[in-house]
Amino acid sequence: MTDKNEMDSSANESSSILESPEEKKKRFLMEFENPFKCDKCSERFKKKKYLREHKAEVHAY
Ligand SMILES: [Zn+2]
Repeated sequence: MTDKNEMDSSANESSSILESPEEKKKRFLMEFENPFKCDKCSERFKKKKYLREHKAEVHAY
């Protein structure tokens, strides 16, 4: 089946950017601390309120 292939390709995608372990840790922490991600520009926010304000300001249209 193609299940394994799909998994492999998605894994490749996320690891296509070579990161040092430190970078990876930093990114993980950032994602952990800022769980609210803007779906338009991928910026991250600590609070849902911030994300909502960001969207209202930056993506008003
Ligand atoms: Zn945004």
